[in-house]
Amino acid sequence: METSFDAIVLGLGAMGSATLYQLARRGVRALGVDRFSPPHALGSSHGDTRITRLAIGEGEEYTPLALRSHEIWREIERETGRDLLTTTGGLVISSAGSRATCHVPGFFGNTLAAATRHGIRHDLLDARDIRRRFPQFAVSDDEVGYYEHEAGFLRPEACIAAQLALAERCGATVHRGETVLDFAEAGGGARVATDRGDYRAGRLVVTAGPWLPGLLGETWAGRFTVRRQVLFWFREKDGVEAFQAGKFPVFIWELSGHAQPSYGFPAVDGPGGGVKIATEQHEEATTPDTVRREVAPAEIRAMFEAKVAPSFPGLSGECVRAVTCLYTMTAGCRFVIEPHPRMPSAIVASPCSGHGFKHSAALGEALAQVVADGASRIDLAGFGWGATGGRAPS
Ligand SMILES: Cc1cc2nc3c(=O)[nH]c(=O)nc-3n(C[C@H](O)[C@H](O)[C@H](O)COP(=O)(O)OP(=O)(O)OC[C@H]3O[C@@H](n4cnc5c(N)ncnc54)[C@H](O)[C@@H]3O)c2cc1C
Repeated sequence: METSFDAIVLGLGAMGSATLYQLARRGVRALGVDRFSPPHALGSSHGDTRITRLAIGEGEEYTPLALRSHEIWREIERETGRDLLTTTGGLVISSAGSRATCHVPGFFGNTLAAATRHGIRHDLLDARDIRRRFPQFAVSDDEVGYYEHEAGFLRPEACIAAQLALAERCGATVHRGETVLDFAEAGGGARVATDRGDYRAGRLVVTAGPWLPGLLGETWAGRFTVRRQVLFWFREKDGVEAFQAGKFPVFIWELSGHAQPSYGFPAVDGPGGGVKIATEQHEEATTPDTVRREVAPAEIRAMFEAKVAPSFPGLSGECVRAVTCLYTMTAGCRFVIEPHPRMPSAIVASPCSGHGFKHSAALGEALAQVVADGASRIDLAGFGWGATGGRAPS
């Protein structure tokens, strides 16, 4: 068995599969290792759909990643024949009063500013416009909408599977069901120890998602927080038609009188599949090994009563499915992409904070450029630890 590579990618979820593919297509001899068999439902990249939008309200530095990712998703679709990105239009609803904020204060205004700066096609809607175009949403008179034409959803499991298939086609080695136990600097590169063997590589990219805090140990102790989130699928009252793509956009709703927004998707599974709607929680911390994976009936009831019934009169309280998923949060909902402080050969990439999937294709490309060329075309400087407001790790 080969044990020496140019680069090793630790973790093959959204970020790792994208990085491995981009390394392999550049001719880098790369090994990807995952403790499970991605795509799987134990980390951060499952649940059928992820919102993608181009004008990014979380910060100026994200929009170039979203724009480039859309190009790459289309390239991968052409190469594999798979459907990855569905354009449905995307609606962000907000108001001036006391309301939830999506990830950062000023999300709605930032989104609009980014759309204007980058020439992203959008419409500004008042409550009457929203009711006319999207009668499924029970908006109040003081709510306004930003509608982005090119927004839509990605199929996360298919994105990961496609990128791993392409990576292997380009010559990457993929080890599934193998757990990395330790890594260290050795002889000007990285030594990686797993439950099956020892490997050497010039560079190591650590993309371990919610397992990252455990793997980094003291290095970044306390700076990542893993949070359990729940995805719900509620059945329509009068048939699926009004909630299908084409009539119903992906949405983010900065709900009045709530601390956390809701977001959701068109019905993608036809009659009986339900409409996926979720919110966020930022109170309880967990770990991937101890998280409660099942969803209690009381959680479903609370979600329906607080954030579904008042917003969508066309949805019933019948929940056809509920799934847990994990956010790896940092202060300010930032991504962290940084050299490992004690390992010059290693880069740590934690682009989650609940909004990373849409950027993963371009981040994988950027990480591969750093490994192969020494620098990325899209500037990653804004994603250093300092940008989260944290002290540099030691
Ligand atoms: C509920 C929910 C909703 C979301 N909604 C959106 C959205 O609408 N739009 C959006 O853009 N983003 C969204 N996100 C965020 C996005 O999904 C994440 O940013 C992204 O999936 C993170 O990918 P990752 O590669 O960092 O982690 P993961 O995909 O979890 O991958 C980490 C991988 O590392 C492997 N691993 C860990 N430890 C080891 C080890 N020791 N040895 C070997 N392998 C290991 C794991 O098995 C796993 O496969 C959402 C996230 C969640 C949870």
